[in-house]
Amino acid sequence: MADFQEIAHSGGKVTFTLANTDHGRTFQVGISQNRPVPFAVFGLYAIAPGIPVGFWSVGMESESSPVPGAFPVLIASDSEQFFGHNCPKCKYYWRSGPFPTICPGCGLHGPSYEFLSDAQQLYVEYYIFQLTNALADPSISEHVIDMDMVADAASQEGPKPSFYISEQSQQYRFSCVACGEKHDIIGRFGYCSVCGTRRDVWELTDQIIPAIRSKLKDGGSAEDSVRDAIAAFDSVVSQYAKQMVLLIPMLPFRKDKLTKRFHNAEDVATMFELFFGIDIFNGIKQAERTLVTRSFFRRHVYEHNGGIVDQVYLDKSGDKDSRLNAQLRENTDDVHELLGAIAKMVQNLHSGFHQIFSPEAAPIDRYSRRRKSATSIGSH
Ligand SMILES: [Zn+2]
Ligand SMILES: [Zn+2]
Repeated sequence: MADFQEIAHSGGKVTFTLANTDHGRTFQVGISQNRPVPFAVFGLYAIAPGIPVGFWSVGMESESSPVPGAFPVLIASDSEQFFGHNCPKCKYYWRSGPFPTICPGCGLHGPSYEFLSDAQQLYVEYYIFQLTNALADPSISEHVIDMDMVADAASQEGPKPSFYISEQSQQYRFSCVACGEKHDIIGRFGYCSVCGTRRDVWELTDQIIPAIRSKLKDGGSAEDSVRDAIAAFDSVVSQYAKQMVLLIPMLPFRKDKLTKRFHNAEDVATMFELFFGIDIFNGIKQAERTLVTRSFFRRHVYEHNGGIVDQVYLDKSGDKDSRLNAQLRENTDDVHELLGAIAKMVQNLHSGFHQIFSPEAAPIDRYSRRRKSATSIGSH
């Protein structure tokens, strides 16, 4: 699937059935869908001209509107069973299920109806306009919003129907490791939009590190691998650091330190320990710690000195085995150990981060119960 492609609506027909009664005009809403694409639907309440004000648990007839005069609105998914969302604060766009409560980009919390995509927002306005018009005309007993026409128009050349919406594929699809929610996001990092768990650590342990290891196994250069490993650590750690800068009030010099490139592993550790009480070397043996620290300095030599040992490296790294002006050499076993150590360090940072910003427990518990019962069914 290519990035940023238009994704058609799932189609279907939304029907308003209207009646004239002693109490005035009444209406019911219904939806039908029979296209061969995945389809899901959820409900919300909105007031004119299209402002969402609460949830509507579709099928719960007794439920009353949270605001007088709010209309129940049915919203169907796109043709991949995703719902588009926009963050009202940072404008981040993503696709996931219907009920996100956290922006993957900036971590903003809110009720899911505040994360409607621009397309859904247009649809809600159109829906309320059609419904209020139909209510105002006593001769109308049925009105249909034909979303099949909207869906068909996505793949066709030429002018679109007067009402037209679609969503857009992003770059990276994943299911949250903690709660199972499926996402399609830009880039590779971010929060789960349902439980708030950051996925950065899994990006490192499940994608980046295995890729570096397999390149090494296929005869890739150990020197390049050290550089890649430290660069990966840098970019993943900076995701957490950026969020801390965004979400925790702090002195400007701390913001500055957290958003700079990390040159020295010991400095990084001291920074997280002093600023947030997070020990990223927790549970890491001294030998691994020395290896990580030395590898940071070696990365610098590869990047800025073509891998040739200089005096600065000798002074700072404490490496007694290297000589001035010699070409640095890496040992494959050391690189594997380094990769293991940086995975543990990022795990420590991740768990410290989530001790400060607790993920939502309910979706995580539901997912773990679901998985447990699936396992016990499977084991019979
Ligand atoms: Zn946001
Ligand atoms: Zn999650």
